[in-house]
Amino acid sequence: MFALALHGGAGTIARASLSPDAEREYRAALDAALHVGYSLLAQGGAAFDAVEATVRSLEDCPLFNAGRGAVFTHEGHHEMDAAIMQGHTRLAGAVAGVRQVQNPIRAARLVLEHTEHVLLAYPGADELAREHGLPLQPPEYFFTQHRFNQLQEALQEGRMRLDHSQARAAAPAPLEEPEKFVDNADPNWKKGTVGAVARDQYGHLAAATSTGGMTNKRYARIGDTPLIGAGTWADERCAISCTGHGEYFIRAVAAYDIACLMEYKGLSLEEACRVVVHDKLAPAGGEGGLIAVDAAGNVTLPFNSDGMYRASRVEGGAAQVAIYKE
Ligand code: ASP
Repeated sequence: MFALALHGGAGTIARASLSPDAEREYRAALDAALHVGYSLLAQGGAAFDAVEATVRSLEDCPLFNAGRGAVFTHEGHHEMDAAIMQGHTRLAGAVAGVRQVQNPIRAARLVLEHTEHVLLAYPGADELAREHGLPLQPPEYFFTQHRFNQLQEALQEGRMRLDHSQARAAAPAPLEEPEKFVDNADPNWKKGTVGAVARDQYGHLAAATSTGGMTNKRYARIGDTPLIGAGTWADERCAISCTGHGEYFIRAVAAYDIACLMEYKGLSLEEACRVVVHDKLAPAGGEGGLIAVDAAGNVTLPFNSDGMYRASRVEGGAAQVAIYKE
């Protein structure tokens, strides 16, 4: 039984504020990414390859906060984080604060496959990608007007924010309007961190996560995404990819806690995820969610926010795509 689940970020996603066109666009992007990973698994591909391919597809889509369309730091740059982990070998690779590599998830995989390290950060991580011939891009490639507007709002509020929410209709005009790639001007566009988890036909599990982090984050801030055990985890029991306010997920060691609850307490995947998302993160103020798959191919996608862009499909079943709390 193979299975795949993906997310495109969790946060304040109100049904009323998403136009039918924008919702269609999101659903189509989630469905397309699901198809990429599911087809790979159906052809006998490895979970590890499926999660990477799925995340790449989401990174290339400017709707989501990863790769193209990543959020801005306080200074107006993009600093992207990504991680990938293979369950049965427990090998992991991650990058933090990359600014140039087109697909941070590919750079994370390079760390796993071509270095003896787990996590590379900042120019050294972009440099590894360059050495291995991965496509690099100028800042313009990652720019979207919507994200830029969100930074202006966050600067006015004076705080870092999870930007999976819609831009407010009353968003202030940008401080400066750079002549760059301008995306759909619909103020209701919503975007988010991306991730995928999979179980392949051979029973192997894998997880991958990629993000621009949080809008208005301080220079050099690293979130939970590239921290193995916090935002991303895979072993022989489960594969987990998280999205939400990273500081809370780091302090909760959220992804690994699920594996621990399964191993030490004998909880099911679903129960372990519920404990972490609803009993631990939510009361602490850790808004967000996660996607998870276990060795039997069970899939669960819990979140404690208003919504989470998500999709899943298990072998022979229909594709499930959802955004809001049902
Ligand atoms: N968890 C990510 C971070 O804190 C953000 C997100 O999932 O939206 O960097």
